[in-house]
Amino acid sequence: MKVVRTATEVRAWRARSGRVGFVPTMGALHAGHAALIERAVAECDVAAVSIFVNPTQFGPHDDFRSYPRNEFADLALCERLGAAMVFVPSEDEMYPAGDATRIQPGALALLLEGAARPGHFVGVCTVVAKLFAIVRPEAAYFGQKDFQQLRVVQTMTRDLRFGIRVVGCPTVREPEGLAMSSRNAYLEAEDRRNALALSRALFAAGDLWSGGERDPAVLRDRVKKVVSQPDVALEYVSVADPYTLEELRGPAGQVVISVAARVGKARLIDNVLLGLDVDGVGPG
Ligand code: AMP
Repeated sequence: MKVVRTATEVRAWRARSGRVGFVPTMGALHAGHAALIERAVAECDVAAVSIFVNPTQFGPHDDFRSYPRNEFADLALCERLGAAMVFVPSEDEMYPAGDATRIQPGALALLLEGAARPGHFVGVCTVVAKLFAIVRPEAAYFGQKDFQQLRVVQTMTRDLRFGIRVVGCPTVREPEGLAMSSRNAYLEAEDRRNALALSRALFAAGDLWSGGERDPAVLRDRVKKVVSQPDVALEYVSVADPYTLEELRGPAGQVVISVAARVGKARLIDNVLLGLDVDGVGPG
């Protein structure tokens, strides 16, 4: 496995590789990332991973400085999973002096996480566009865990005609239900118990859906009720169309339910898709 730190080295590697499956990450890798890498290894000639904690997607009060970093363990995991190349650029490599261009996504990026974290998706789109330009993969693998990010990146990729297949992969969870996240490292033991309220609430809505409930107001209320407990500071519950992410006002056959909450020192997000599979979510 090649570990490279400059775009020039990536390009040299790329020229000798076949169809590249690409997994962009911010490191502190866990089983959720591993599932994406395994899929890239299985579906493409070679798999490439990037590890870069991207400063432009963090707000001034976000956790950029404290974000967990563990390059040594990350590289060992990538190697074990069969990645062919890992790109670990410095901040200067991605944003050299004079860097001035930013990608401004559309309406999708103003809702939910975009509303809670102004400018977040400008940073995400900008770094993903740069990484796509450097790595030039056939396919790129993103997690359902960050469903809005998946949709924003799919839309950007379509609009900018990158010709890269952006594949959504299911959320990997702890056995008790908590969605895996690098930010779970911020949780104390008691926080982890409290954090289970998010997945429990989403699964409760899923049970209602399986029983035939389609009223978005009823689904929303159930999530709010289950998630609301002391030590879980709910930011939002959204029951939305999976393509536009607009809040649903009436029954629909396909739904994404998203939650965001603060638990202990962590800000957590999670979601479920009802009536569709993330593999089927395309650029449209
Ligand atoms: P991050 O390192 O948090 O920026 O995430 C890198 C990629 O891994 C993104 O596409 C995430 O959506 C994905 N990811 C993060 N957590 C999970 C998870 N629990 N299951 C599946 N994919 C995940």
